[in-house]
Amino acid sequence: MGHSCMLIPNNEFGRHEECGIIGIISRKEREISRDIYYGLFALQHRGQESAGIAVQVDKTSVSYYKNMGLVSDVFTDDIMRHIPKSQTGIGHVRYSTTGSSNVINAQPVVFYGRHGRMAMAHNGNIANAGLIKEKMLNAGHIFQSSVDSEVIAALINYYSGENIEKGIIYACKELVGAYALVVIAEDKLYAARDPQGLKPLVIGQRDGDFFVSSESCGLDAMDAQMVRDVKPGEIVMIGADGTLKSTMMDKIFRRSCIFEYVYLARSDSVIDEVSVYEARYECGKQLALLHKIDADIVSGVPDSAIVAARGYSDVSGIPYVDALAKNRYVGRTFIQPTQSQRESAVKIKLAAFKNNIVGKRLILVEDSIVRGTTTKKIIRLLRSNGVREIHMLVASPIVKYPCYFGVDMDTREQLIGAYKSEDEICAEIGADSLHYIPLANLSSACSRLNNACFSDEYCKGCFDGNYPLNIDKYFCHKDSLE
Ligand code: SF4
Repeated sequence: MGHSCMLIPNNEFGRHEECGIIGIISRKEREISRDIYYGLFALQHRGQESAGIAVQVDKTSVSYYKNMGLVSDVFTDDIMRHIPKSQTGIGHVRYSTTGSSNVINAQPVVFYGRHGRMAMAHNGNIANAGLIKEKMLNAGHIFQSSVDSEVIAALINYYSGENIEKGIIYACKELVGAYALVVIAEDKLYAARDPQGLKPLVIGQRDGDFFVSSESCGLDAMDAQMVRDVKPGEIVMIGADGTLKSTMMDKIFRRSCIFEYVYLARSDSVIDEVSVYEARYECGKQLALLHKIDADIVSGVPDSAIVAARGYSDVSGIPYVDALAKNRYVGRTFIQPTQSQRESAVKIKLAAFKNNIVGKRLILVEDSIVRGTTTKKIIRLLRSNGVREIHMLVASPIVKYPCYFGVDMDTREQLIGAYKSEDEICAEIGADSLHYIPLANLSSACSRLNNACFSDEYCKGCFDGNYPLNIDKYFCHKDSLE
């Protein structure tokens, strides 16, 4: 076990990633790697470039394996047989953009610290990673790479003079940005979420064992019952005897990523007490109330938009039909590292149900339009299969701004909505009409307890440019360090 690699990129701070993390602590030593595998498998939609599992062997050592590829490719039967039984373990699936796509950046990060060997996995983007790295360099630390994970690990170790728990708490208090974190050290499992709760993280339980997952669908796959969300700004320490200790950070203000409900999360997940399915269905209902369109059929682009399309159909009375078939063995187009890989993925990913759509006026619901290339290809595909009209409805507002918190929308130039009007976008993608859901309607569809009072609890930066953190302060500094 253990894995090292050859390529060490020297410029990693600009990358964005959207990942999935799993953590387990069991009362007894057992094959927890099997559970981690199932959890990661359920989180595969959050990252398809690399996968890794680390388990604690004894108080001071960790066994791990990570490599490039899908969970099922990385963790063959042979590899799984070599992962020792354990009581604590973590797992990670990773997505990244070009330039950082190699195994040095795969997680979990395993490191020797003041208290022996530890392992950590995280999802998100640390805004002040550059500042922290500078401070650590001045304090005499050396770094193997410049990835955020190594900076977090160094910071935890830096503050672990007294004990690891304090090290994690002080480190989390210093981190600025979006993160969900799992750490195994000294027979404990730690889980933490940034003070804005930008990244999701949930806790589950099964027969006295505790489970942590980016989404509740990961808990379901491990047969664990949902206990609760890790709260924004909370650090949870879980012992093998089932004790849970919660520490809250300062300056907590909830701004969870609303894009989780739009696209990122799986429809069967529940995040921050809001069912992703219900939020998407409600968006479809809202679109039907706002846009009455004379059409024969409604359909959704698989997978994320199907639920919203059903909501539209149920309210409008226009029948739902399947217009597009998805090849389930191809990854999500948005989650592919290069533009050329994205473009070829569309061709092999979707096919049209010709008999369902030929000669029909179709309302096609999409969850979001980011770059516009996928939508354009889908419309071309449907037209070549005989559809008469295509009226696009988008279950999120126009994406006008990039995300700085780990979702791959790199620059404004890449966003079709940054400089084009709704009519111009419609012409560009080749639809007969195009409408987006207003931000207020999306926010209320995603609100906790269906209460609009909670609609401000979301980051909506990619739609309205209002980010929960000072982008200029942190991200400019990062750039200047590179
Ligand atoms: S900018 Fe958009 S994608 Fe990024 S965290 Fe905010 S809502 Fe989510």
